[in-house]
Amino acid sequence: CLTLAIESSCDETSAAVLSGGRIILSNVISTQIPVHQKFGGVVPEIASRKHIANIMPVIDEALRQAQVSLTDINQIGVTYGPGLVGALLVGVSAAKALAFSLDIPLIGVNHLEGHIFANFLAHPELKPPFVALVVSGGHTSLVHVKDYNTFYLIGQTRDDAAGEAFDKVARVMGLPYPGGPQIDKLAKLGNADAIAFPQALSGKGNFEFSFSGLKSAVLNYLHNAEQKGEIVNKADVAASFQKAVIAVLIDKALQAVEKAGLTKLVLAGGVAANSALEKQLKASTEAAGVEFYYPNMILCTDNAAMIGCRAYYQSLMGDFANLYLNAIPNLKLTDKE
Ligand code: ATP
Ligand code: MG
Ligand code: FE
Repeated sequence: CLTLAIESSCDETSAAVLSGGRIILSNVISTQIPVHQKFGGVVPEIASRKHIANIMPVIDEALRQAQVSLTDINQIGVTYGPGLVGALLVGVSAAKALAFSLDIPLIGVNHLEGHIFANFLAHPELKPPFVALVVSGGHTSLVHVKDYNTFYLIGQTRDDAAGEAFDKVARVMGLPYPGGPQIDKLAKLGNADAIAFPQALSGKGNFEFSFSGLKSAVLNYLHNAEQKGEIVNKADVAASFQKAVIAVLIDKALQAVEKAGLTKLVLAGGVAANSALEKQLKASTEAAGVEFYYPNMILCTDNAAMIGCRAYYQSLMGDFANLYLNAIPNLKLTDKE
């Protein structure tokens, strides 16, 4: 079974071809990061226009790299939410047009489920049940993945997402968009114990996150120093901020695994690319006797292969969309357990 997958929820136009659920034949990603960088963040209208210009060339390239033609494709999976509505509509429209003209099934995929499923591509042996920690640009959630099609939300952020906090703190420090990788790099040169930033909602039995207070604390720290004319050690700020984020993520993730009665933790989303988070999660899961999985860098951030993997497992359940499929910008991952 060959699945063509399309992803256009934010600032990456991506198309992939999968054989079965877990073999990537191609995964072409055209990123718009350089386009949005001069604005310090994603400009939705520009993103939509770029997706329109890129979508067919990216699909063609994915088919070419997979050495298949359109008529070989058996089904099409596409991200229909959450994300920017104009951006999503480009992928959804392209997928519908192709599914209609080729007369093949269409599958609507939740982008966040896709992020989790990136791990099935990275780890052929991985099977549910497990707890997934989804840390991305727009989301921070703990999810109980019971099987390939049953997900329960354990807890999520009340305000900012972890990735959003990385991006905002980086912006105030004068670092280019997206800030996550920049902070990651800078933090390596700093002392994580230099500044004690707040770790909100930490403690036992709380599975909600909050990062807006931490973000404000970092901004206040920088403004105060500026007003006093003090020189800030940016590497120390980056390392201390990153430490505060990581500490709550790890603490809650391990508690969630225990509460679910499981011994497997899966990391997903763009922030999963953070080197300190990976390293420290590796150490703390090992100490706790928990198996730990995370995707390689390219599968962490937005890509169509993860969408294709999710689409494949939906197709096994007969979970197909019709041509009325629409973009849902605030699509939710799951119901609360
Ligand atoms: P969502 O998936 O919630 O809809 P998104 O698709 O925009 O949001 P992703 O592509 O999953 O988000 O991830 C992008 C985010 O990951 C950005 O906030 C970026 O700063 C962050 N990120 C990427 N690499 C790193 C890193 N090494 N350290 C920390 N954050 C990172
Ligand atoms: Mg992106
Ligand atoms: Fe994403």
